[in-house]
Amino acid sequence: MSANHSKLNEIIKSSLELRAQNLRSLAVFDLDSTLFNVSTRTQQILNEFAKLQGLPELEKVEVKIQDWGIKEAVIRAGYHPEKDLPMLEKLREYWFEKFFSNEYVHYDVPYAGAVSYVLELFKSGCEINYLTGRDQHRMGRGSLEVLKKWGFPCEAMQLILKPERTIDDGLFKKNWFINLDRAQYEKIYFFENEPVNINAVLETSPDVEIIFLDTTHARRETVAAQIQRIFHFGRS
Ligand SMILES: [Mg+2]
Repeated sequence: MSANHSKLNEIIKSSLELRAQNLRSLAVFDLDSTLFNVSTRTQQILNEFAKLQGLPELEKVEVKIQDWGIKEAVIRAGYHPEKDLPMLEKLREYWFEKFFSNEYVHYDVPYAGAVSYVLELFKSGCEINYLTGRDQHRMGRGSLEVLKKWGFPCEAMQLILKPERTIDDGLFKKNWFINLDRAQYEKIYFFENEPVNINAVLETSPDVEIIFLDTTHARRETVAAQIQRIFHFGRS
């Protein structure tokens, strides 16, 4: 049995047991690169830019599921990070404006098994929250639309976005857990792909059980603590 399989099933089992005892459990899910593959969002933006600017090499390049941002795809297309800096800067500006928007978040696709797992967990009695570094103003409406579109549980849940885009993601998530009345839950899980956020929450809310989705991340920090690491939501 894979690590994915046994850990994910264990959480469902624990949630069922807690419900039987009238105890509450909560699972908090990050969105980008935890539940959703965002490389399809970047792919769309890159294709549009390449067409607009008449850059056929860039139009052909595939954004890979493990890519972080646009740089890796651009290099694979044969561009040089320094020599082609003016183009890269233009692209980055274009990408930034589109990537963090209610419209383009619709290009995201959930990772395999993610929808069915969150649904099963919800049905087992675990409360579901979504906690994201996306901000309310640029992405609040689109985030909710996309969760609903793919069939993620959206009743009795909270979708928590940053009130201001300038707030640091790690700080935002850390403070959210600090301010949560954690005593009302017998068990709290946090599913997250970004080591910076994981380390920040681990340090201040050690009672929260963190599941590290080892998909892709900003490569700024690593997870040093011995916590559960899974690669996807597939359970076969
Ligand atoms: Mg993320």
